[in-house]
Amino acid sequence: MTTQHAQSPKWSMVVDADRCTGCQACVVACQAENNVPLNTDDIFKQKRAIEWIRIERYWEGEYPNIKARFLPVLCQHCENAPCEPVCPVYATYHNDQGMNVQIYNRCIGTRYCANNCPYNVRFFNFWEPVWPESLRNQLNPDVTVRSRGIMEKCSFCIQRIRAGTRRVKKEGRALADGDVVPACAQACPTDALVFGNMHDAGSRVRKMSEDKRHYRLLERSGTDPNVIYLKRVDPTATEGAGHE
Ligand code: SF4
Repeated sequence: MTTQHAQSPKWSMVVDADRCTGCQACVVACQAENNVPLNTDDIFKQKRAIEWIRIERYWEGEYPNIKARFLPVLCQHCENAPCEPVCPVYATYHNDQGMNVQIYNRCIGTRYCANNCPYNVRFFNFWEPVWPESLRNQLNPDVTVRSRGIMEKCSFCIQRIRAGTRRVKKEGRALADGDVVPACAQACPTDALVFGNMHDAGSRVRKMSEDKRHYRLLERSGTDPNVIYLKRVDPTATEGAGHE
């Protein structure tokens, strides 16, 4: 276990594309943890489904030598976030821990932020979310239920970050690697998602981000994301060591 520096943490996630099997356990865990509205048939058909983390599936090669590829995509928590300067009411802003934060009760629903996000990870509540009676008791009391007209997206499970920070303070110690685990990373059976403090030189996330397979989504756009991807390793590929 490594300990945190005195400076504030810089939260970050590493997504190892080589480990992702596309099982979607992360998607379900995120829906349950963050009270994400249910994607019923009609909502899905209108292309209004909300998923804070989604698995992009694509195919590589030609039949019969075709392979399914998976890439988990969530808010990239960009350092130069294109969503932030376009919000007229500062409902989305960058905090001092490397995160792009969304303030629900400030949002007036212009959707400028979603239009300006190149990763398509912001979702607008076109309807008041409704859960069947049998599921109401499973809503997470630590997370606000967003009403109609509000923009929402991945928060890196900020409620878990706050709870972890409070817990270690109570225990009188510094935050250690692994003290905060978002729902998606906790549920992933292959350990494809690793979360931690980039300022901690001994943290897993920092070490993995230095792997030679690392890259960022749409790197050339200059958004400087805090989510880092590791390329897939394909031993059958003839050229290069992996695929983005
Ligand atoms: S839970 Fe892990 S393996 Fe499954 S889709 Fe998500 S990232 Fe991939």
